[in-house]
Amino acid sequence: MPITREDITEWIKASADVLAKNRDYLTQLDAAIGDADHGANMDRGFRAVLSKLPEVSDKDIGTIFKTVGMTLLSTVGGAGGPLYGTFFLQAGMKTAGKMELTLEDWTGALEAARNGVVSRGKAEPGDKTMVDALTPAVEALKQAVAEGLPLDSALQNSTEAARQGMEATIPLVARKGRASYLGERSAGHQDPGATSSYLLLSAASAAWSDQ
Ligand code: ADP
Ligand code: MG
Repeated sequence: MPITREDITEWIKASADVLAKNRDYLTQLDAAIGDADHGANMDRGFRAVLSKLPEVSDKDIGTIFKTVGMTLLSTVGGAGGPLYGTFFLQAGMKTAGKMELTLEDWTGALEAARNGVVSRGKAEPGDKTMVDALTPAVEALKQAVAEGLPLDSALQNSTEAARQGMEATIPLVARKGRASYLGERSAGHQDPGATSSYLLLSAASAAWSDQ
């Protein structure tokens, strides 16, 4: 079963919900190695996105994603806003004109989104950023496509890979973003951006798992 544009808007709403519920948790993670604003940033950005959704819910998936990206760019400051803005803009370019997505389309969109974050932020896997959750999720999706897995198993695998990537940021020393100013003292804390990326991907698999 394909991912429809209703599924896409359900995912965006579920993301806003999970980010609101985890606002304090994300803020605590960012308090340890950053400036304690990641929860507030993501919550503010996705609240603004929610208010834009009615304008685009009858448009193609590319337009929906681009609107999410533009809204995050204009409402969220710091590092996270431009990076997640780029994430959704690139996903939108890849899905321009599409009214539904196959598993391969979703894999291509998430890969383009991750690549956009990498080219904007210059972080590599292991630098203790959101890239550490996004990259294994993309790899798991590509493997699922290669193995011909159904959508729900593919989504479960990519969410689990993102979770492991997120947890694997705990011992890392940050080499990008604000946390890198702490040097060795950044080790022992889970990266807030990797955590929000995991939350977004787990919201997708929860929203689309009844396919
Ligand atoms: P800020 O650091 O400006 O306060 P946020 O707190 O909203 O912004 O976001 C912090 C998160 O952004 C980090 O936990 C990390 O995952 C991510 N991040 C920071 N710099 C980069 C980068 N160069 N590339 C990828 N992700 C980054
Ligand atoms: Mg911060």
